[in-house]
Amino acid sequence: MMHAIVARQPGGPEVLELAETGRPAPGPGQLLVRVAAAGVNFIDTYKRSGVYKVHYPFTPGAEAAGTVEEVGEGVTGFAPGDRVATAEGIDCYAGYALVDEDKALPVPDGLDDFTAAALPLQGMTAHYLINSTFKVEAGHTVLLHAGAGGVGLLLIQLLKAKGAQVITTVSTQEKEQLAREAGADHVLRYEGFPARVRELTDGTGADVVYDGVGKDTFDGSLESLRIRGTLVLFGGASGPVPPFNPQRLNAGGSLYLTRPTMAHYLRDATERRWRSGEVFAAAADGSLKVRIGARYPLAEAAKAHDDLEQRRTTGKVLLVP
Ligand code: NDP
Repeated sequence: MMHAIVARQPGGPEVLELAETGRPAPGPGQLLVRVAAAGVNFIDTYKRSGVYKVHYPFTPGAEAAGTVEEVGEGVTGFAPGDRVATAEGIDCYAGYALVDEDKALPVPDGLDDFTAAALPLQGMTAHYLINSTFKVEAGHTVLLHAGAGGVGLLLIQLLKAKGAQVITTVSTQEKEQLAREAGADHVLRYEGFPARVRELTDGTGADVVYDGVGKDTFDGSLESLRIRGTLVLFGGASGPVPPFNPQRLNAGGSLYLTRPTMAHYLRDATERRWRSGEVFAAAADGSLKVRIGARYPLAEAAKAHDDLEQRRTTGKVLLVP
């Protein structure tokens, strides 16, 4: 038996309940992983609330790190005792979770279990956003929202390592401090940010905007771009962006708009190993700092969701079974 978080219907954080369930058995090509920590991500809240459809009873969680307990038929690359992490695990808010072998990432020795659980989803996201969705180069001016969040703090550091100028938005003084420590050149509040970005770029605008806030920032993000700039809308922490008239891209300066999702940038094991390998190596050698802003016992998953949705968290949020 094991403990797992279960929701029986969509709703607020209170639908997340601790339950005792059977331990899953690994099918062909799968690993059974003893979860040391599971990552909490904004997408888990979209699935819990019903913004994204799921089947019930529903156990959230795609991200975890831990130790291989058992392997299914045909698994060749992992054995019991190996340390692994994943951004694409099955029902990870639990004591044990299944991971398909090709979605399991080996954890280097220099990385502890909590850091390994904190990095896969937000780390590989930050990696694909700046290397593949839009290729950031030295000298680019980048605006990114929610700079003290999980994706945000990683993005700031990876962008600075590329030599970009980084402007970010945050809502509080504490978050401003964290964004500055991560290396942001300019930290703004949301109020009036497009005008501030114009000022900071001598009227030109940003080369690219990374917007995971969505509804509340979308219009301002478009206004902050230079001619032929790119808006990368990668989430909707404030809610989904309403329908959009493409004519606005013309008026804004022949702009580009894309709405990427992680699965399309992790097409196979090679792409996963490339992205996770670079991010894990940077964390292991200390060049990428991973802030774990909060850790909750598994039983407090509802509180973790509430804190994330109410903007009370910074960096990564973890659940410990
Ligand atoms: P964060 O830790 O960044 O938390 C969200 C932050 O958004 C808050 O802390 C808050 O920072 C800011 N925010 C602004 N307005 C609101 C609002 N109305 N309600 C709640 N938060 C608000 O979360 P993650 O790092 O997990 O994710 C960031 C975004 O990236 C999310 O939209 C998520 O869906 C997206 N994402 C997309 C992926 C993809 O592949 N497309 C993959 C991973 C994440 P502040 O208080 O400073 O404003």
